[in-house]
Amino acid sequence: MKKLWASSALLPAGWAANVGIDIAEDGNIAAVHEGIEAAQRERLPGPLLAGVANLHSHAFQRGMAGLAETLLRGADNFWTWREAMYRCAMRVSPEQLQAIAAYLFIEMLKSGYTNVTEFHYLHHAPDGTAYTNPAELSLRTIEAARQAGIGLTMLPSLYCQGGFAGETLRGGQQRFATDVGMIQEIIRRLREHVGRDPQCSVGLAPHSLRAVPVGLINEALTALGPDDPVHIHIAEQTREVEDCMAATGRSPVAHLLCHVPVDQRWCLIHGTHMTADEIRDVAATQAVIGFCPITEANLGDGIFDLPALIEANGRFGIGTDSNVMINPFEELRWLEYVQRLRHRQRGMAVPPGQSGSIGGALYRAVTSSAALVAGRRIGQIAAGYRADFCVLDEDLLSLPDLAGDAWLDSAMFAARTNPVRDVMVGGVWLVHAGHHAGEEAAKMKFDRAMREIADV
Ligand SMILES: [Zn+2]
Repeated sequence: MKKLWASSALLPAGWAANVGIDIAEDGNIAAVHEGIEAAQRERLPGPLLAGVANLHSHAFQRGMAGLAETLLRGADNFWTWREAMYRCAMRVSPEQLQAIAAYLFIEMLKSGYTNVTEFHYLHHAPDGTAYTNPAELSLRTIEAARQAGIGLTMLPSLYCQGGFAGETLRGGQQRFATDVGMIQEIIRRLREHVGRDPQCSVGLAPHSLRAVPVGLINEALTALGPDDPVHIHIAEQTREVEDCMAATGRSPVAHLLCHVPVDQRWCLIHGTHMTADEIRDVAATQAVIGFCPITEANLGDGIFDLPALIEANGRFGIGTDSNVMINPFEELRWLEYVQRLRHRQRGMAVPPGQSGSIGGALYRAVTSSAALVAGRRIGQIAAGYRADFCVLDEDLLSLPDLAGDAWLDSAMFAARTNPVRDVMVGGVWLVHAGHHAGEEAAKMKFDRAMREIADV
């Protein structure tokens, strides 16, 4: 039994003082005690938070971070960016994917993410042929997560067609092609490989409605248990919404809710273009909406109506998606700032009529929504949850002598540098004083992989 002590910790009911935490051998929290002496416990050097779950990542895209910022055609948008992404996707080998993912996952840990949901749609070799083991690239991602120590929700992606009219996959999409039988076989192999590993769960990611007809989504769901997570890209682009309307007579959200049993284990990624009625309908299902504010800004996707979701008591979380930047506090800052710019008002994450810390509201929202859509008990400092924590470094916050939610407001809106000092996942300290023991070796492999890819 590991025993920690924090002078301040953010518990489900709020900030508590002099908190003792007992961690069992399996990496779960056995008990939380408030108002106790430090005694023989390991004393933590700053305020203690539950780690943030990253709800959406495509690890290989870390390999093009910053490379898509040169305007080539006079007009650049999501669809031209996608061509650049396909070129990157075409080149990555299994070894290179593992090297990229391992380094990326260490970056995530250092920034305060303790779990990553990998929405994984690379399945085949660059020429589109199948690997001997169809789960090869998913298994590489699992190995990368184990190497870094981060918790992983592994979602192999079903990708059947190139558009709503059933277009065949072309060029860069050949690596993504899967049918229901293949994705179910990948899920079976991943489950077998993961076994009872408490650090990893397996679910399904139908890529999007443009890539998977609703009938095939329902067919694929039969391979899952009732609580296994399901994530889908839903309404990132206006063209996607228009194409869905033309093909089905409904928007993507309406089409999904009409034909598929969406519930609390579902995460709808990029609900960017949803009507107020659709937002209410999704909130009623208890599904989580996954925002990726930095990527959505980078790609020029548009702005989600967050106040409508908060008013409807809807659930939401954050993801790093393209991995162009890795920082949960910055991700949340973007989520709030674009709303301020749009509505010319501050504090859009706080329910109407209420007062209180904006940073606190955002942090609580994304940690409390994590468990069901990540497929494991994470996101709370409470008995039965994983011991996934981060400790803030008060010296790196903007002002001295802060307390409670002011720590979160400072970390989110005013920190000059990464304010995360130490990070624990499953009861194991992985980041000490901002350093991960494996980061230098992982960086060397990452750099080598990037040079190899650039030479192709
Ligand atoms: Zn995505």
